[in-house]
Amino acid sequence: MRPWEKAIRSVVPYVPGEQPSGDRIIKLNTNENPYPPAPGVQKALREMDGEQFRKYPDPAANVLVDALSDYYQLQKNRIFVGVGSDDVLAMAFLTFFNSGKPILFPDVTYSFYPVWAELFGIPYEAVPVDGDFHIRPRDYRKDNGGVIFPNPNAPTGICLGLDQVEEIIKANEDVVVIVDEAYIDFGGESARSLIDCYDNLLVVQTFSKSRSMAGMRIGYAMGSETLIRSLSNVKYSYNSYTLNQPSLILGAEAVKDREYFERTTAAVVHTREKAKLRLRELGFTCTDSSTNFVFITHEKVPAQEIFEALRKEQIYVRYFAAPRLKNYLRVTIGTDEDMEAMYRFLESYLK
Ligand code: PMP
Repeated sequence: MRPWEKAIRSVVPYVPGEQPSGDRIIKLNTNENPYPPAPGVQKALREMDGEQFRKYPDPAANVLVDALSDYYQLQKNRIFVGVGSDDVLAMAFLTFFNSGKPILFPDVTYSFYPVWAELFGIPYEAVPVDGDFHIRPRDYRKDNGGVIFPNPNAPTGICLGLDQVEEIIKANEDVVVIVDEAYIDFGGESARSLIDCYDNLLVVQTFSKSRSMAGMRIGYAMGSETLIRSLSNVKYSYNSYTLNQPSLILGAEAVKDREYFERTTAAVVHTREKAKLRLRELGFTCTDSSTNFVFITHEKVPAQEIFEALRKEQIYVRYFAAPRLKNYLRVTIGTDEDMEAMYRFLESYLK
């Protein structure tokens, strides 16, 4: 090893889902929305003048924060925005989990959490979900350095009721509790309604799923003034200009169209409920997902085999080789047409 190599940090990175390209592929592997962004977003994009890119974007992201503030009727100093919720979550780990005590998150959950914990040197404990993949709030009643969990959880899709979320927060008033609501718009009740009651609660959401803008990279957090100020201070100590100018403008446009948002999320939910029925008929067991994906296992055929067979047909779903997940597939809800193509293939393949 050359001397300079000894100073290189070695990490085990998070592995994102594949982004295959081609006309004939059916892409159900990274929980993107099958519908396009709101028409106002497309219009603003067409009218965008490149001259404005000469200057730095507004570091405070005011147009976007204003739009979110109007939408949620929440003061601007209680909203923090970032480059996708991954950026917001990473910043939150860096800002809030510094006690030296282990933070808690479920063992079956978003696989980025342990990666950030390792990267930032944060000790952690993965708390097992029960045999049916449910998070048990009583397991979060112990000394810790902070708590984070997605609600609904990923990749299981299972949602805790707001009372159960509150039970976890109540048991952890001395640390910061982060509820990652990447999928909340497809089912379940947001913990946003609790941020006035608990100063230590941070609720994180994203434009990547319900607002069809994964490619724009926009995420945000809502919480007390103190939490938001602390996040901003860390952000300004790291990179002042996180969101680029098109993301600021197009993100603000997306938030304005409530009707389109409600219509497209309802369409995804409708297709998801149909998917649960169709997949059960094909011999799969599904969790009761409240998200834009289903989490399934087949009674006879191993998940990895189904995954590979689908892939040969250019139908991409997500397979996780992790101990508790290795016989499951996570299938993003696509258009009705894409889903029908998948059922047709599965029907003949599983025969
Ligand atoms: N949280 C969860 C639970 C997720 O599944 C994802 C998507 N990979 C994210 C956060 C991050 O999404 P984004 O950075 O696109 O907002």
